Amino acid sequence: MDNLTHACLGLGVYGTYVAATGHPIGGAVGWAACAAAVIGAEAPDVDIVARIFGDPVTYLYQHRQVSHSVPFWFAYSLIIGGALSFWAGGHALLLVTLAFLGVLTHIGSDMLTTYGTKALWPLTGRRFRGDSLFVGEPIFVVLALIGIVLYRQGVPLQSFVFALDAIALVYTCWRVLLHQFLLRRLRLALPSLVGTATAETCRIRVTPMLLPIPQAHKYVIVNDQRYWFGSFTAGGRPVPEAEVISDATPAVFFALQNSRVGRAMAWFTPMLVAKQEQEGQLTIVRLADAGVRYFDTLLFSAAIDLATTHDGSYALVHEGLRAQSMHIRRSFSDGWQRLGRRMRLTIASPKGYRSGR
Ligand SMILES: [Zn+2]
Repeated sequence: MDNLTHACLGLGVYGTYVAATGHPIGGAVGWAACAAAVIGAEAPDVDIVARIFGDPVTYLYQHRQVSHSVPFWFAYSLIIGGALSFWAGGHALLLVTLAFLGVLTHIGSDMLTTYGTKALWPLTGRRFRGDSLFVGEPIFVVLALIGIVLYRQGVPLQSFVFALDAIALVYTCWRVLLHQFLLRRLRLALPSLVGTATAETCRIRVTPMLLPIPQAHKYVIVNDQRYWFGSFTAGGRPVPEAEVISDATPAVFFALQNSRVGRAMAWFTPMLVAKQEQEGQLTIVRLADAGVRYFDTLLFSAAIDLATTHDGSYALVHEGLRAQSMHIRRSFSDGWQRLGRRMRLTIASPKGYRSGR
């Protein structure tokens, strides 16, 4: 979930607390209470420093792991609440509690996204991916803005905060139910979508897009090396869009085992598509997470350039990872089989990537 959305959820925690208790806003304690909820709602993404001081691969290994796990929920709350109570002159319990509730909104909303998080580490190392919310949900920002405007106009908090909370809650439930509904529709239609493949051995995934309507969602079905991509009609009927055979060549295996980005992608991604291309002397292995598709682009991707050695093996020349970046510099579009709506899937290139350098 993006940081603006997290901040708005933290603001929601603060507004709800004030509306529910009727405590007046203002003074150092009021500011500290607001700050505790908002900073708490941002705190788990402190692992962004791994991106600033490390590189994208370090960040990928790190992000949404330990920093989002149970022991840290309490650590953040104690640190934030403690520091703010020192500044506000007391009210430690209140500030720690608000920070903790802020942290919970962060973890909860991250768990409902496509990337998910290892929220319950060390109890379990499982990554929870709700696949229900998009990585940025403007509705929470809009609700927060409405709340701020009404508050500035002097409308009593009690008269609108709970209504805004209810809208946020109903919206979230709607997205979770929509995801479950589409999964069900996909499961029912599976035999007709995968042709000769056995439906029982298929893995399926439905991923959300920005809009909370069936057409915005995408699906991917995986059976061995075969990948079927599609979307849904307004009624939730699956519509095939593209079919891809993932390459399982010696070059792909070499890239997965011998490059940092290859190992990172294999570790992070449950549905990994691999494509091998030849560009002059270089063999280029492209990897992408089949579950993260924006329109026709598999955006979460990597590219590994290999040179052939004298003994017929490979040597690593260059590797690049496109970790959660929305910027497209250059896309490759060859090698995909077209289907249905004649969509052409592309794997996005790492930022600034030029093969052979
Ligand atoms: Zn996060």
